[in-house]
Amino acid sequence: MHEMSIAMAVVAQVEEAARAGGARAVGEVRLQVGELAGVVPDALAFCFELACAGTVLEGAALVTDAVPARARCLPCATAWAVGMPPDLCCPGCGSAAGTELLSGRELQIAAVTWEDGPDCVRVREPIPEER
Ligand SMILES: [Zn+2]
Repeated sequence: MHEMSIAMAVVAQVEEAARAGGARAVGEVRLQVGELAGVVPDALAFCFELACAGTVLEGAALVTDAVPARARCLPCATAWAVGMPPDLCCPGCGSAAGTELLSGRELQIAAVTWEDGPDCVRVREPIPEER
């Protein structure tokens, strides 16, 4: 399951940061999830809870921030919201020849709230994409 491997990667990264910073409990993990990342938030929340069991993250809340997908047309510089399902044809000139994806594939830890320990522990690694 896609969401399970993401949840486990998130937990592994936060655990590592907690170990490095000496934190013993995690309050909240905030994730940035792009519209095109292919993640179902409910499924991710469920898997996150399973992945947290028995770790320093046990009981931690998961907050997902949806990042809207945006694209830009290179020939005419029009930028638009790609939406779901993604529309990669430029609304300005109708071309799909030079479309650049500006955002929407994000999948990373934006912030972690520690229950104790230093608040300077940073986790900002992008989650490696499997598949
Ligand atoms: Zn265009």
